Amino acid sequence: MNEDIRQLLVLQDRDAKANRLEAELESIDPEREKTRRDSIRTQQVLDQAKQDQRQLEVRRKDLENEVEAKKEQILKFSQQQLETKKNVEYQTLAREIDHVREAISEIEEQEMELMEQQDAFKSTLAEANQVAEEAKSGEAKKISDLDEREKNIESELDALDEERDEIVSKINKKMVAHYERLLDTKEGKAIVGVDHGSCGGCHMKLQTQEIVNAKSGREMATCTNCGRLIYYTREMVMADELD
Ligand SMILES: [Zn+2]
Repeated sequence: MNEDIRQLLVLQDRDAKANRLEAELESIDPEREKTRRDSIRTQQVLDQAKQDQRQLEVRRKDLENEVEAKKEQILKFSQQQLETKKNVEYQTLAREIDHVREAISEIEEQEMELMEQQDAFKSTLAEANQVAEEAKSGEAKKISDLDEREKNIESELDALDEERDEIVSKINKKMVAHYERLLDTKEGKAIVGVDHGSCGGCHMKLQTQEIVNAKSGREMATCTNCGRLIYYTREMVMADELD
């Protein structure tokens, strides 16, 4: 095989690898952002759970205060009962006291329900707490892993850049220029093999002269349809002869 072609294939391999690494590098920042967002979200869930718990506590305290106020009312009515000499008034106060007692037992029922809710909520809170803690410690680990991966990819890309300069210096400049023009438009496949008489890139039948050019390896052979550089190897000749 023509040495320029051989080096171009090495270059194409290197460029494909660099492309993959660059795509991976680009995915790191969004991943880092997502890790941070996930951690923040679990913290928000925890904060909301804590707030809900505080609200339940406030409501329970309110009910407790209501009961206390009503008990004081009862004391006041009892005192008035002791002071009155009128039977009717005494009876009225007794009925008032009964009403207040009923109100108290209703409030106490609500209190019981609230306490049950608070009990049930404890596991929700504990779970939210655990999830948030795990996300927080996981976040640090994930971010440092991503940072390391980023550093590794960057140094790998640097090495590939140096390698590229070296490979390019060995290839005919005209061919490199042609290759680089193709690279942008041909999705990384600028130089392709002849595949049973067709272009390995666009799969159109090649003209005899193009195949002759590729076989001779003396000059730059291209596919007239897609413009890709084409090459021929002994293995391909054998495969074509078998057909
Ligand atoms: Zn083609």
